[in-house]
Amino acid sequence: PNLPQPDYLSRLNPEQRAAVEAVDGPLLVLAGAGTGKTRVLTTRFAHILMSGRARPWQVLAVTFTNKAAREMRERVSAILGQPAEGLWLGTFHALCARMLRRHAALVGLQTNFTILDADDQLRLLKQVMEAARIDAKRWPPNGTMGVIQRWKDRGLTPERVTAAEDSDWANGAARALYAAYQRRLVELNAADFGDLLLHVTEILRTNPDVLAEYHRGFRYILVDEYQDTNLVQYLWLRLLAQRPEPLPRNICCVGDDDQSIYSWRGAEIENILRFEKDFPGAQVVRLESNYRSTKPILAAASALIAHNSGRLGKTLRPGRQDAEGERVQVLSLWDSEEEARAVAGRIEQARRDGMPLREIAILVRAGFQTRAFEERMIALGIPYRVVGGAKFYERAEIRDAMAYLRVLNQPADDLAFERIVNTPKRGLGDTALRAMHEIARREAVPLSTAAHLMVERGEALRGKARQALMELMQGFDRWRAALPTEGHVVTTATLLDESGYTEMWKQDRSPEAPGRLENLKELVRALSEFESLAGFLDHVALVMENDENAEGDRCSLMTLHAAKGLEFDMVFLPGWEEGLFPSQRSLDEGGEKALEEERRLAYVGLTRARRIAIVSHAANRRIYANWTSSIPSRFLDELPEAHVTRAGGAAQERSRMVSAPSVFTAGPLASRRARVIEAGAWEVQARPARSDAFAVGDRIFHQKFGYGRITGVDDDKLDIDFEKAGSKRVLDRFVERG
Ligand code: ATP
Ligand code: MG
Repeated sequence: PNLPQPDYLSRLNPEQRAAVEAVDGPLLVLAGAGTGKTRVLTTRFAHILMSGRARPWQVLAVTFTNKAAREMRERVSAILGQPAEGLWLGTFHALCARMLRRHAALVGLQTNFTILDADDQLRLLKQVMEAARIDAKRWPPNGTMGVIQRWKDRGLTPERVTAAEDSDWANGAARALYAAYQRRLVELNAADFGDLLLHVTEILRTNPDVLAEYHRGFRYILVDEYQDTNLVQYLWLRLLAQRPEPLPRNICCVGDDDQSIYSWRGAEIENILRFEKDFPGAQVVRLESNYRSTKPILAAASALIAHNSGRLGKTLRPGRQDAEGERVQVLSLWDSEEEARAVAGRIEQARRDGMPLREIAILVRAGFQTRAFEERMIALGIPYRVVGGAKFYERAEIRDAMAYLRVLNQPADDLAFERIVNTPKRGLGDTALRAMHEIARREAVPLSTAAHLMVERGEALRGKARQALMELMQGFDRWRAALPTEGHVVTTATLLDESGYTEMWKQDRSPEAPGRLENLKELVRALSEFESLAGFLDHVALVMENDENAEGDRCSLMTLHAAKGLEFDMVFLPGWEEGLFPSQRSLDEGGEKALEEERRLAYVGLTRARRIAIVSHAANRRIYANWTSSIPSRFLDELPEAHVTRAGGAAQERSRMVSAPSVFTAGPLASRRARVIEAGAWEVQARPARSDAFAVGDRIFHQKFGYGRITGVDDDKLDIDFEKAGSKRVLDRFVERG
């Protein structure tokens, strides 16, 4: 019958509509960024419901993030004209958690099992390893956790790990440890994150009746970001989708091989190729019009990704009516501070021109990069949020390091001392810590003094713990003594090393550990922007206090990985330098494979932008007290001149001068992150001592917070009403007359 076309279908182009209407049988949508894959999936969901093919709970829809799931739920509801309820819509983990609660007994769990966080997991595994008498020094528990997680990513229960799959980790004990760890989890009525998929997949594999129930239940399956599924996720999908004849296999996966960026977490791009094999007769639909970005942005992204080999091959055409537009800008800046100033300045300008902050994003390769931008935004009073992670000074390792610095600065800071006295582990048990508090109370002294006393008296301390605590206390004496001569930057670096704190993260094999080490280096770099330790601590206290409510219009800072699937009018892509992006690790690995994943990440970054994309690199970065020059990323050279404007050439010229041209093409050489330009040659000049007094009412300029007027003077501290950053108390050394 010739029914009028529903409204929601008219918002699609013909290829998209075909993908929505081909509801029966397996379908793979393989298409580039911004071609409407997610829109197709959402519309398809609504279409299935609107056409009466299924009830809301008969569709299984998988998104990559919880945020994406929320958005899809909202859009489906909008099309339906009523709230969509009872949906099986969420991430792999959320969906599996729900399934596991229903069938927990089949793997020996109770319905109310707990999901362990990463810390609990590790603590448990440590106990298991201790019981098995495995030397934790030689085989750090984190490494064992990595081996186990990789098995879980591949759907291998301990029983399924064959000799061929076994690892030589822990002298061949890995499989036994894995089995023991899983037993302990069940005893505790707990599951770790990886178990959610592993258990459910195992249940579906071994319980035909349960599988049959889901086969009857789920008539349609929808999967977004399919290129980043790992093996166990794929197995789970395949089990659910391969319904027995005559039930149709209505699975629709959408993805883009050029946006596969999670291989380090076990994602397998081969799942795209497997699809057509496992679902014979699958239709493959390609979408070629990009509705997100302007022509220059698309052209730049396409030219960049063309440098990858082994692509499935796709065409991408501008589909926007207003597709002309500004070229991609490449900014060459002197150092990371200048980069942060340039970016924040442009954000301010855009805001003045009326662009909402939520339409602006800064996408970084590595988490530590956010620090410089955060400080600039605080200074200018630009509200921001860090998506998918904590703000720099709220990250656990930064809080730990700050606690060390607070104790260094002020031995009576009990809160700080408590945080670090047993971090890294120094063998202080609950009894020892209780005794320390007891002494402090009894003698009315700070905890650190109590610790000194305990060491002297040997009270409540075993031999090893006593030794470790003694070393820590002697360390603080030494670092405090070094402060005036060595300076706060060098002393901090020494402290982090000698206290064993840096070492703790070096020993850590979790995927986050390298990022934490980078953050610590960035912290030392931040210190070097200040004249004294006390000045820095005050600054951070002010920065931390600066956070108003999380609501409202804010610009976003996040890693490129976290930006997948999102879009913004204006996107900043800073830090395009060899060794940072592409990352040092990808360069060290040598081969093209790791480099190609970095390039895909660059492609993801560029294609997040609707109208304005600004790429930048700094020619110099500071490492401790030294400056090193950085080589511009090879990806910058891969952007087509016709669609790019380059600015700030001076800095670029300078940095190209220090690197011979051949360096750009030679792999391993290019990876060697620049050379030191005369140590300290570019040290920030020490600010002159101040003799001129400030008075209430003076207009001043502060390095971090900008212009303001003095409302109060208290010795060397000034209360200032800043034009952008609000009222603050700052040290007068950082203030100049404005
Ligand atoms: P990514 O690969 O980045 O996940 P995608 O293929 O999922 O991208 P969408 O996010 O679905 O793309 O769509 C990109 C943008 O284009 C969105 O703002 C979407 O609303 C818009 N869009 C999609 N299809 C059309 C269309 N036919 N007409 C107008 N706009 C469209
Ligand atoms: Mg998408």
